[in-house]
Amino acid sequence: MAQTQTARLMEGASLARRIVEQSAATAAAVTRQAGKPPCLATVLVGDDPASVTYVQMKRTRCEKTGIRSRHVGLPATTTTAELVDAVTALSRDPDVHGILLQHPVGRHIDERAAFEAIAPDKDVDGVTMRSFAAMSFGLPGFVSCTPGGIMRLLDEYDVDLAGKRAVVVGRSPILGKPVGMLLLARDATVTYCHSRTTDLASIVREADVLVAAVGRPRFIRGEDIKPGAVVVDAGYNPGNVGDVDFETAKTRASLITPVPGGVGPMTIAVLLAQTVDAAARQFGLELDALVPSA
Ligand code: NAP
Repeated sequence: MAQTQTARLMEGASLARRIVEQSAATAAAVTRQAGKPPCLATVLVGDDPASVTYVQMKRTRCEKTGIRSRHVGLPATTTTAELVDAVTALSRDPDVHGILLQHPVGRHIDERAAFEAIAPDKDVDGVTMRSFAAMSFGLPGFVSCTPGGIMRLLDEYDVDLAGKRAVVVGRSPILGKPVGMLLLARDATVTYCHSRTTDLASIVREADVLVAAVGRPRFIRGEDIKPGAVVVDAGYNPGNVGDVDFETAKTRASLITPVPGGVGPMTIAVLLAQTVDAAARQFGLELDALVPSA
């Protein structure tokens, strides 16, 4: 008999909207008190169409939220030293409160060196080694935005993580690796899978909580989802397709993120929230005193 269970959707789009509304209210209060708006600087090397679109989208969302955006566009021929200089100048500029260096920056550039030129208090995209270490030690700091968004989504749907088997498929520095650290900090028992993992399907089948962060359309098959599992699909592939085969997975999962409208909107919401937070701190303002929390 065909299975008919349909998982409840974890609607990132509506949670993200609420986070952005809260950020807009806080940004307005920061602007009133400090006499200047929060400002996010975006840095783009080259003109890769997808990166241009991502940066433009982030800038538009900033402006709508009451965050000023400043853009630094550099040619594809930019050297590591030139990029480090440009990022360092933004790190020193008191009118810039957050810095987003769009990835990828081009193979000839030492991307790590460029990321490390971001001042820790302006690392609203959570890409520096210091931010990663702070997150891993459970110390205050900015988290990488997509992992931070995933955790907020799990909390919104009251997903109990303590003692649960969490499987993260993917180990990139901006997504898979940090989300596993955040799940570990919440007492999940975490397993990472990657391109060298053998018998990945059998590991996926054990997951109470599955995070797919691979970048391959419908890579996780519904038949491998443990009945009742919570499925977070961070993948975003051409044609608005995730890394999980949604149609089959939803017949076994208890909760699942749609693509689009799941993890994607959360990433930008966390970026905006962290930018406003960074500005408030740099202006010496108490966030809680500015606006009531949501
Ligand atoms: P990435 O840097 O390319 O990393 C992909 C990871 O998947 C790597 O760890 C890789 O393993 C692993 N992998 C690749 N092929 C595999 C296979 N056959 N079996 C098992 N593991 C495999 O990608 P990313 O930046 O983390 O992004 C992953 C996905 O998330 C993409 O679809 C991307 O578009 C999406 N994404 C979405 C957002 C958002 O805002 N929603 C943000 C960032 C990324 P190795 O380490 O062994 O190579």
